[in-house]
Formats: sequence, structure tokens, C-alpha cells
Amino acid sequence: MRFKPKPLKDDVNFECKFCLDCCRGRFIYLTISDIANIMAHGHDPQDFVLMTAEGGKIRFFLAYREWDLGCIFHDPETGKCKIHSYNPLICKIYPFMVSHKPLGIEGEEPFEYKGENLWLYYDESCPGIGEGEKIIKKEDIAELGLKFQKESEKTDLDGLSRLLNGEYNGT
Ligand code: SF4
Ligand code: SF4
Repeated sequence: MRFKPKPLKDDVNFECKFCLDCCRGRFIYLTISDIANIMAHGHDPQDFVLMTAEGGKIRFFLAYREWDLGCIFHDPETGKCKIHSYNPLICKIYPFMVSHKPLGIEGEEPFEYKGENLWLYYDESCPGIGEGEKIIKKEDIAELGLKFQKESEKTDLDGLSRLLNGEYNGT
């Protein structure tokens, strides 16, 4: 399923419907902290980390099943995440997205947060948007977006190598 971005103009209700869709057929990027967290819960990185080169930079992403392109931590029967309490930061941000530049979509406008101009979006194809009692605040999404950017900047082969050698201390 592709992310169909719509500008997030206000705080919004959200409740996951476990529709099975968002954990399949897309890159789920991992930061070094994500990899460390998942390893700390007993998972072998050889089983869940894949690598790709993008724009001259190595990026890590979650392994997926061949038969349906689903994330290996996704339960195809219930639609639920098997590692929900320690899943990657990008999974905690979804169905929202934080960009440091506009995507060129009608109605978008910058959201100033901690001295930065950010553009916030939600995935129009997620049926959980606008549902339930829980209200998602724009500030919370922006905070997670900044955290993801910071963690991504620290994510490289050297960091993974140090993590695998037991020398990674979170920096
Ligand atoms: S697309 Fe939305 S409702 Fe469906 S599983 Fe993902 S977050 Fe939940
Ligand atoms: S880690 Fe969990 S939430 Fe993230 S893509 Fe995999 S199943 Fe989905």
C-alpha cells in the first residue's frame, strides 16, 4: 500500500483498525536505536535487518516475508504488530509523516516547531484516521519527526558495526 499524503492541518482522532495494510509492501526504515531496542528483546539482527543504498548513504530497513511483502513482525491473521511495545520509531509515527520541505500538495502549510518549519501529513488511505477517542496532537507528531531525523543522522554502518561488537552506547 502506498502512502497517500494529505496535509495535517489540525489535531486529529486516530484509532488503528488493524486492516492489515500498512505493514506490507513498503520500506520500514530502521535507526541504530531501533535495531538496538529490538535486539535487546532477543531478536537476532540477521533475522530482521536488511540494507539498501540510497543517495550515497546506507539505510537499514525491516526484513519482509516473500509471499506477501509483509514485515516479519506483522501477524497476517490479526493484523497486529508482534513487537508493538518496542517497534521502530517510524512505526510509531505512522499514519503520519513529517517532512522538512513541502511535498507540493494542495493546502499544505508549514508548522513551526522548536524553531523549525515542518510539513505534517497523514495517510489518506489509513481507515483509522478520524476514528476513536484518542486525539493525536500535531506537536507530538512533530516531536517524533525531529527524533527520527536525529536518530537517522546517527545511523550508519559504523554504528551497526559497533552495535554488533557490543560497543554501541547510544551515540
Ligand atoms: S493502515 Fe491505519 S488502520 Fe490500517 S493497520 Fe495501518 S495504522 Fe491501522
Ligand atoms: S514492526 Fe510492527 S508496526 Fe512496524 S511494520 Fe512491522 S509489524 Fe508493522
